[in-house]
Amino acid sequence: MPFALLRYGLRRAHRPFDDIPPTPPLRQSYDVAIIGGGGHGLAAAYYLSHHHGIRSVAVLEKGYLAGGNTARNTTTIRSNYLTQASIRFYREAVSLFGTMSQDLGFNVMFSQRGQLTLAHSEATMRSFHLRAEMGKHAGTGVEVVDARTVRELCPHLNMDEGGQHEVLGGLWHKDGGTARHDAVAWGYAKRAAEKGVEIHQRTTVTAIRSQGDRVTEIVTDRGTIRAGQVLQAAGGLNGQIAELAGFPLPIRCFPLQAMVTQPLKPFLHTLVSSANLHTYLVQSSRGEIVIGGGSDPYQLASTRSTFDQKEALAQGALHLFPFLHNVRLLRQWAGITDMTPDYSPIMGASPLANYWLDAGWGTWGFKATPVAGKYMAETIATGRVPDIIAPFALDRFDRFALLNEMGATAASH
Ligand SMILES: Cc1cc2nc3c(=O)[nH]c(=O)nc-3n(C[C@H](O)[C@H](O)[C@H](O)COP(=O)(O)OP(=O)(O)OC[C@H]3O[C@@H](n4cnc5c(N)ncnc54)[C@H](O)[C@@H]3O)c2cc1C
Repeated sequence: MPFALLRYGLRRAHRPFDDIPPTPPLRQSYDVAIIGGGGHGLAAAYYLSHHHGIRSVAVLEKGYLAGGNTARNTTTIRSNYLTQASIRFYREAVSLFGTMSQDLGFNVMFSQRGQLTLAHSEATMRSFHLRAEMGKHAGTGVEVVDARTVRELCPHLNMDEGGQHEVLGGLWHKDGGTARHDAVAWGYAKRAAEKGVEIHQRTTVTAIRSQGDRVTEIVTDRGTIRAGQVLQAAGGLNGQIAELAGFPLPIRCFPLQAMVTQPLKPFLHTLVSSANLHTYLVQSSRGEIVIGGGSDPYQLASTRSTFDQKEALAQGALHLFPFLHNVRLLRQWAGITDMTPDYSPIMGASPLANYWLDAGWGTWGFKATPVAGKYMAETIATGRVPDIIAPFALDRFDRFALLNEMGATAASH
């Protein structure tokens, strides 16, 4: 077997990876230009081309396909949020993940194995009751469970009875799950490209020119294009791109780090998170334990990772699963997250008439990839903002209509 593998690896006649066509020359104009070839930009391109018949679309990506936060996230998919607007939105996200592999004809490895958030105090239990009631009201699979049920759901967990972080119960979200992040992006890219969408990798947007209230030209390091409509979906750099377009966004950048261990035999079926310990864990389909936590406590637009965060994540993980103490870490990384004041995204209109926003995805936007793509495409195609994304409008910050999701976002993502 190893020889067969070696022979295969050294063969000259490998079929090139032709799922995504090579970057073509830039045309002078497109119906739609999308700034950012992450999951969100690619999903919007897919829905524009497949559901609305808009095929003259250019996705402009400064690096390689989906190499931003889409490549760096820990793939938690869930809808156990706090506000009705968010629950409704993320519930549709979860259901779109349920059919994504069939819809795209591309296996995104969606695994709906439930998410368990731990309570180590009575105050947390009370907040879980509120979240469970909000979730049930909006039709999400979420309930408060006691310590005995936590033990049944996660038999290897350290319950820390009598200790500082004793597990008193949890919030069990049976709809939660994970998917393969690259596959989500590649699936959307492949299907969009089949309809004629052009994906321009290594193409950096350097300026955005406008006249009156309309964007007229997008300048890139490979040439200048015109576009009837423009979608901004630039992940961690959304604040900077909006400034190129001439307006500020209420966004600050914080690094978010994660790390992964060597593969282990399956022992962790659910996703487990603890806000008190600022740690969450999920076992990937390869057996690796993916460990994530809270953002770095300072603003920075950088993807470097730090030793102190590695130490903090290891501490949390070892508290929950002490038997991991001999396990080796394979990788650690960071992404730049575009955080809004209320921990909710910004979708829809911008101060410019033909320039649309899909921003502020911070530490929680992977799960929204299909639903944001679907409704941003509808917005661009019809010029009308659908009800489901209307609460996330930029002008909510002027109207004091914030959607505070801080409590539902902390250390679960
Ligand atoms: C460590 C970590 C863990 C996370 N965990 C989760 C999780 O468990 N669940 C969850 O739901 N979310 C999670 N997130 C958040 C999630 O990754 C993001 O919200 C989501 O991937 C955003 O997707 P996107 O397509 O908008 O952005 P991105 O994937 O970042 O894509 C934006 C693209 O825009 C490109 N771009 C930027 N500037 C320019 C320019 N000038 N010209 C051309 N292109 C440009 C970038 O190169 C990038 O590829 C996590 C994030 C991190 C960093």
